[in-house]
Amino acid sequence: MRIKRLRLAGFKSFVEPADLVIREGLTGVVGPNGCGKSNLLEALRWAMGEGSAKSLRGAGMDDVIFAGTATRPPRDFAEVSILIERADDTETEVVRRIERGAGSAYRIDGRDVRARDVGLLFADAATGAHSPALVSQNRIGAVIAAKPADRRQMLEEAAGIAGLHVRRRDAEMRLRATEANLARLDEVLADQG
Ligand code: ATP
Repeated sequence: MRIKRLRLAGFKSFVEPADLVIREGLTGVVGPNGCGKSNLLEALRWAMGEGSAKSLRGAGMDDVIFAGTATRPPRDFAEVSILIERADDTETEVVRRIERGAGSAYRIDGRDVRARDVGLLFADAATGAHSPALVSQNRIGAVIAAKPADRRQMLEEAAGIAGLHVRRRDAEMRLRATEANLARLDEVLADQG
């Protein structure tokens, strides 16, 4: 999976719509302090499903919405879109949008989806919101100091098997529900017999 394009509107300092085409190879983002370089990475992590405001350097989820300046009023919503190219060359667009006071919603290729659908999509591709592939300045120390169990989780995410754990838990829950139904059926049959 490759990220081909990143579009932002009203996200943190990106008050005007911004459209970034990410070409193959190494991409560098340069600019003076405070110009919004880290906000770009945060936009990526946010659209990939990051749910923690703290890890996006804010107090609440609405803090990702442009808060206004001395000369510009605040915005009521923020939207980030990621265009990805999959291994089979097809393209998929993931959009996350947040309205002030109303929470956020996701779309994949125009369809409304749940946060966990987006989580699974990126977990399978080994580039989830918490993926070690996106290492923010304040996490470098954490990667080095991680306990073995936490480092194992990071490696599993990097290897793309984090999504399998979620699916396994889902399958186990369905199995338990089916076993309970079978037990109930046995009781009913025994009563009738
Ligand atoms: P540095 O090189 O210092 O790390 P940077 O280029 O990575 O800087 P960022 O940290 O991405 O810059 O951007 C910080 C800027 O974003 C600050 O000017 C801050 O005021 C602005 N900013 C953050 N959140 C919002 C928001 N919700 N509304 C408006 N501006 C915001």
